[in-house]
Amino acid sequence: MTYSYDDQNIFARILRGEIPNKTVMETEHTLAFHDIRPHAPHHVLVIPKGPYVNYDHFSAEASADEIVDFHRTAAAVCALLGVSPGKGGAGYRAIANSGPDSNQEVPHYHLHILGGRNLGALLPH
Ligand code: AMP
Repeated sequence: MTYSYDDQNIFARILRGEIPNKTVMETEHTLAFHDIRPHAPHHVLVIPKGPYVNYDHFSAEASADEIVDFHRTAAAVCALLGVSPGKGGAGYRAIANSGPDSNQEVPHYHLHILGGRNLGALLPH
């Protein structure tokens, strides 16, 4: 499977420092920042610094270090936001839109972390 990465996408531009972001957390391989149009009181995007277009691309081609760093950072963001159930928080939803049927807008892999209120059903029926 070949994935084509557009290095002009908006998250690539954020990673190059060409446009600003509200950073929540940054590690060697991962950046977390506030979504510009939040859908919940807490809405943070977690992205790998590497050029991966979606979840399956990242899972297939990222190094073990990148994958571990990404997931540990996402969990640390949840803890920082106070939503981790294992740390007394009320919970959160993690969503990775991937490809056309998901309506993914930005072709750089990202995990939405949403919380701060009851998020209702996963999808409208
Ligand atoms: P998706 O539909 O899963 O690709 O989600 C893309 C998300 O990126 C949306 O929730 C947008 O609000 C968010 N977004 C787009 N541009 C920016 C930006 N410059 N800074 C922060 N979030 C952004």
